[in-house]
Amino acid sequence: MRIGGYLPASFLDWKGRVTAVLFTLGCPFRCPYCHNPDLVLEKAKPIPAEEVFARLSERRTFLDGIVLSGGEPTMQSGLPGFLRELRVATGLPVRLDTNGSNPEILETLLEEELLAGVAMDVKAPWRKYSRVCGVSVDEGAVIRSWELLRRAALDVVFRTTFVPALLSLEDLVGVRNQLEDDPRWIVQRFRRTEILDANLALFPEPSPECLREALPGVNISG
Ligand code: SF4
Repeated sequence: MRIGGYLPASFLDWKGRVTAVLFTLGCPFRCPYCHNPDLVLEKAKPIPAEEVFARLSERRTFLDGIVLSGGEPTMQSGLPGFLRELRVATGLPVRLDTNGSNPEILETLLEEELLAGVAMDVKAPWRKYSRVCGVSVDEGAVIRSWELLRRAALDVVFRTTFVPALLSLEDLVGVRNQLEDDPRWIVQRFRRTEILDANLALFPEPSPECLREALPGVNISG
């Protein structure tokens, strides 16, 4: 596992839990609004897995879980083995953050019951995926991940970042429809700090009011 970042304690990443957060290196997408460019472009210095295990073991009694984020953790072939080791070393539940690009690995993790929760990004209406993600995306793979998760007996959330330069409010309504009004859907506001494509910083951040008005009853964060 290539780990590029470690946060010892977070109260924000997994609702209701104090978690450590591990950030993996690399991602197959290049979302211009990405807040982790050093991880995605693999510029962050790798942290040895032994060091991560040692730090987690020291803190395990203060934690309610571990969030595995990125980058995109499912692009790493060693992920199932890493999660098995993590379970033995800490006994803590793990929440995976994923862009849904690798349903095969996701299915393995679900079958082995290695996850207690998943936060999956749903970046856009399926037909707009490649535009929003900055690369040519296999939307079918993302849809398979969504299908695996929508009825999984886990703590699941689906997240969309609203970037007005890339998506319209009508697109958000389209995402809500394609998720069949799933109450676990969260819309996050685009923020201009530390993003992959600096040109996007020229565009304003959307207001929470405009989102609440366009999407009554939907969870808005940020
Ligand atoms: S936002 Fe997520 S999926 Fe997009 S480039 Fe960043 S880490 Fe990858």
